[in-house]
Amino acid sequence: MNNLQNNNFKFKHSLGQNFIKDEVLLNSILDDADVTEDSLVLEIGAGAGALTSKLCERAVKGKVVSVEIDKTLTPILNKKLAKFNNINLIFDDILKLNPSFIKQEFNNKPFKVVANLPYYITTPILEYLLNNDFLITDITVMVQLEVAQRLSADVGTKNYGAITAILNMYATTQITQVVDKKMFTPMPKVDSAILHIVLDKNYNIDKKYIAEVIKKCFLMRRKTLLNNLCSGFNLNKQQAQNIIENDLKRDIKIRAEMLDLNDFIKLADILKKLN
Ligand code: SAM
Repeated sequence: MNNLQNNNFKFKHSLGQNFIKDEVLLNSILDDADVTEDSLVLEIGAGAGALTSKLCERAVKGKVVSVEIDKTLTPILNKKLAKFNNINLIFDDILKLNPSFIKQEFNNKPFKVVANLPYYITTPILEYLLNNDFLITDITVMVQLEVAQRLSADVGTKNYGAITAILNMYATTQITQVVDKKMFTPMPKVDSAILHIVLDKNYNIDKKYIAEVIKKCFLMRRKTLLNNLCSGFNLNKQQAQNIIENDLKRDIKIRAEMLDLNDFIKLADILKKLN
């Protein structure tokens, strides 16, 4: 972190700045992401460039595009990354960046995302990555442990929620490692985990509508699916009961957390026809 001190850098909590310096951890993130010499990689949040430089070293015949919002990191990053010619560093807010700009950076070829994410916008970043028709093969990201557990939860467990079911429309997700909060500077309040999200689902389904249905089914988590269907879709009790018992072939007392993606696809299909 000498480079940071020399430049009088002040960490900005508001930008989720918790940097990594541990070499073993940095290399293991690259291993989890399966970065090779030809990889094309998008990084979000370069920070002081610790992960960025590792990515540049490993993807030596590929390309790294790194987007960082904080311009005060410019001298630090310029110094750290000066020796690489396979990096394009962009100072911008990832959420405001035109998706076509990123696609062009990779010549419309498939790419990976590897990042130690700013935790305050984990969900908006994942939505940005999933909703803009990028040719992303896989996403390897450091996130808060609790968020990682939610995103990778199995059906029927307490961590399984709307966001899990929505992510299941796109990808297979698993935690590759849990990371102690002591590995970051400054140290955050909670532990983290690395999530490996493989975008292997190419269902030809109306993802936007199904996501709406999923959100409404989980709106009041403690209530039954029957209640959420009635209030979310203006159904009377009999209609909701018919859907659950006759179409989904489930018990009337079931809650949304017991439904897997196939159930939600079926449910969305039925509700679309009713409306
Ligand atoms: N990659 C570095 C590392 O691992 O040490 C830094 C990771 S730090 C958790 C997150 C980084 O994301 C910070 O450098 C922060 O300034 C940057 N950031 C925060 N919001 C951003 C946004 N909307 N767009 C791009 N970068 C952002």
